[in-house]
This record gives sequence, C-alpha cells and structure tokens, in this order.
Amino acid sequence: MTEKKLRIAIDGPASAGKSTVAKILAKDLGYIYCDTGAMYRSLTYWAIQNHVDPNDEPALMDLLKSMELEFSPSMDMQKVFVNGQDVTEEIRQTDVTNLVSAISAHEKVREELVKRQQKIADAGGIVMDGRDIGTTVLPDAEVKIFLVASVTERAERRFKENQLKGITTPLDVLQQEIADRDYKDSTRAISPLVQADDAILVDTTGLSIEGVVNQLKAIIAKK
Ligand code: C5P
Repeated sequence: MTEKKLRIAIDGPASAGKSTVAKILAKDLGYIYCDTGAMYRSLTYWAIQNHVDPNDEPALMDLLKSMELEFSPSMDMQKVFVNGQDVTEEIRQTDVTNLVSAISAHEKVREELVKRQQKIADAGGIVMDGRDIGTTVLPDAEVKIFLVASVTERAERRFKENQLKGITTPLDVLQQEIADRDYKDSTRAISPLVQADDAILVDTTGLSIEGVVNQLKAIIAKK
C-alpha cells in the first residue's frame, strides 16, 4: 500500500509556534513546508522598498504580479526569495511585521496569494501554516490544527528569540504588538483568523517544542 500524502494545515495567532513545529513535522515526514505568512511579509517588504501605498490595492496587485516568490528547499532554515533576491531576514523586521496585517487584509491580494498557495499544495505531502489554511486555502485538508498559546507566553518566546538576534524590544511592547496583530487578523472582512469547524485545537502554553510536535504526530497518526 502506498502511504497517503497528507495535506496538513496549521493555523493560529501570531507567534504561537506554528512555523517552528511545522518545519519539524515537514522534515520528519519528508513533506514540503510552506510558510504562507512569509508570502504576505514578502509583499509587504517589497511594497515598502518600492514606496507603494499599503492602502492602494491596484498598485499592490501590480507589484505582486511582478513578484516571483520562491522558497529554498532547505528544510531547517527556509530561505525566501523575491525575484531572486534573498529577503529571509528583511521580512522579519519590525516595520514589516507591523504593516503586514494591513496589506494582507486586501481581498485581491488574498485571492492571488491563495491561488499560489493552492498550486504549491496541489500534489499533497505538505505542511502549510498561516491564518486561513484550514478555512480557505485547503478547506479539505486531511489534518487541520489550530495552534494557540497565551499572549504572555507568545511575547516571552518572541523576546527570547529577539535576544539571540540582539533585538531589544521590551516585553510589554512585544505583547502589545502581538495582541494588535491578532486583533487585525481576526477582525478583517476577508478570511479572518478563525478556527475551522473541523480543526483540532492545541494549546501550547507551557509545552516544549518537542511536546507540541509529539501531540501533532499523535493527531496525524490517526489519519
Ligand atoms: O505567520 P506570520 O506571523 O509570519 O504572518 C504574518 C502576517 O501575514 C499575519 O499577521 C497575517 O496578517 C498575514 N497572514 C495571513 N494569512 C496567512 C498567513 C499570514 O493573512 N495565511
């Protein structure tokens, strides 16, 4: 019997650990990993670089259509390229993080990126993370996870990651930024962040990365 190539959708709020566990799962299963947030971040970064108004949807669409987005096949440190330029680090900067929710709220931007995401997932054998994967991008995914953690813990995790990179944003500022982004992503009109009816809720508060991965593997094993 050939093994089923599943589509695994992982959604949830900002900094809930989605990409960390999605990468590990993809590696262990030999699947492709697709970070859809990186696609919205790349457009945001490119818009800043090209002085495109974040409220001007037609201009954003012209920009997006001129953008070739690529992910390097490396499983650990996935690199992101826009028209051949490595933007992996740039798209994580604070100015991008604080603008991305406004840009991702545009209907046409979402239509175009969802189309690209569905194409990437076409052959199955994929772990895709984002906000609307289980509801909109892959509504018939075989596995749907909704990953959450308390805002306090998410800010603390981000704070520790930042320390390693020499970024010194205070904890309370990080907490506010995370809460603001969650609010914008959950209240937008088009495909807001919401748990799909058939998604399994996993609360990672107080859990180690390994603990979360093991829980997800147990869920996947039942499929
Ligand atoms: O996952 P990450 O935090 O990098 O996502 C950055 C932003 O991209 C989110 O805050 C959200 O505005 C947008 N996003 C989205 N839909 C997705 C993935 C990300 O709207 N599927």
